[in-house]
Amino acid sequence: MSATTAPLAEARPTTAVQAVLADLERFPEIEVRHPSEHTLDYLHDAATRGARAGATAGPAVALPSTAEQVQRIVRIAAAHGVAIVPRGAGTGLSGGALATGGQLVVSTERLDRIMEVSPLDEVAVVEPGVLNAALNAHVAQWGLFYAPDPASYEISTIGGNIATNAGGLRCAKYGVTRESILALDVVLPDGELISIGHRSIKGVTGLDLVSLFVGSEGILGIVVRATVRLRPIPVARRTVTAFFDSTEAGASALAAITRSPVRPAVIEFLDERTLVNIDLHRTTALRARGASLLLIELDGYGIDEQFADLRDALEAVGGTVTAEGADDGDELWALRRGGRGLDDKTWFAGGDIAVPKSRIPEIYAALPGLEARFGVEIGSVAHAGDGNLHPIVTKPIPPGADPASPPAELHEAADELVRLALALGGTVSGEHGIGTVKRELAALELSPRSRDAQLAVKAAFDPFELLNPGKAL
Ligand SMILES: Cc1cc2nc3c(=O)[nH]c(=O)nc-3n(C[C@H](O)[C@H](O)[C@H](O)COP(=O)(O)OP(=O)(O)OC[C@H]3O[C@@H](n4cnc5c(N)ncnc54)[C@H](O)[C@@H]3O)c2cc1C
Repeated sequence: MSATTAPLAEARPTTAVQAVLADLERFPEIEVRHPSEHTLDYLHDAATRGARAGATAGPAVALPSTAEQVQRIVRIAAAHGVAIVPRGAGTGLSGGALATGGQLVVSTERLDRIMEVSPLDEVAVVEPGVLNAALNAHVAQWGLFYAPDPASYEISTIGGNIATNAGGLRCAKYGVTRESILALDVVLPDGELISIGHRSIKGVTGLDLVSLFVGSEGILGIVVRATVRLRPIPVARRTVTAFFDSTEAGASALAAITRSPVRPAVIEFLDERTLVNIDLHRTTALRARGASLLLIELDGYGIDEQFADLRDALEAVGGTVTAEGADDGDELWALRRGGRGLDDKTWFAGGDIAVPKSRIPEIYAALPGLEARFGVEIGSVAHAGDGNLHPIVTKPIPPGADPASPPAELHEAADELVRLALALGGTVSGEHGIGTVKRELAALELSPRSRDAQLAVKAAFDPFELLNPGKAL
């Protein structure tokens, strides 16, 4: 199967779902939405919008506002053998929140309270439906921030970030979501509520179930509360651009940063195709400044010293290095987060691979050959500081062609990139997860023994496959 297609969801409700809805009516405090055209948005995530095609109704949705309500919903659904799809904001890019009419979506959108902020412990306790940006806006009054920052930070939830072990731009310095989660309250598929982890920074009692649940894509339990790590807002931040004469030169320059003593908070790489696309669709002239761009954020003390070392390292390998003013810096970050300049005249297949960061140049070096072989164009941005690339394979839609039917070579090229990442010691998915869209590709990476062990873990928590079946494994 290709990296970006997903099975169509069957949207018709079953009698078992109707029985669940009837039981839930006894608890008016639990908001419930019956299958209808008004629940169509709950049918899919950002990667699986195709599931809407031909569907006239979405799935049944429960919107609990307390952990106890989540327990009740899960118990009622289990009693009727109805599978549950946990859902945050539905911004996922792997089909993890894809639902069918025979399932019940449990949305965390009403579980949106920040329960506690402890500046002295540097933690916050939050419900899963809190938006990433809302948490940061709230904790700023104590001079603190929550580090994981997927580009979707304004629209995705902490619960979804936890379930996908979301990455983002600042991972280069502060790590992915897993590095910022200390403890979780989770409702298991039988309705039991367990608390795992600890509020202390350290703690090694027993197996590390928090790490297991982070990134488990909603197949083991529903996260209803999280204790997350906060950090002091850096005393200074500076945006630095380094433009290069070619994509190859920019990709190779990453090693110069690694060899230097500087550890930027963010290192993003935009290749020539990406710069050209952004210029085409925005009022920018990035390509005029160079053929590729390392977009970097420095933070913390000694920012001038950091900048001097970074500039020396990048100029030595041909970079044109500039410390951007605050406004220009903000605009560049908005451009980077804001998309790649794709429009509805283009077929595209997105990717999310990761390789050891020293191998990034080899991925870029392979792109022209893949373009020629498959008759497509491939541009790629990279969270270069941690080796995570988002190649996007495109082809113009000819007049009269069906926009919803991209040619097979689009996905073949994307799948080939996954194989290349694996050959370079990398992985099928850097941060978006496996969901439904990458299950077959995941089998290329996981050994049978490792996959069996993971299925056994799933069975230990969810023997009747009631939680997000058909996802992740
Ligand atoms: C424009 C855009 C930019 C993006 N940029 C990034 C990026 O830089 N880095 C990155 O990692 N991702 C990125 N993403 C992908 C997506 O935003 C993340 O995967 C995000 O973590 C999903 O959060 P969500 O609240 O939308 O979760 P959903 O899409 O609703 O769900 C995602 C998965 O989590 C499960 N889930 C949700 N809530 C819970 C819960 N409380 N308990 C258990 N399971 C749960 C769901 O079942 C599903 O499997 C981007 C997406 C978009 C659209």
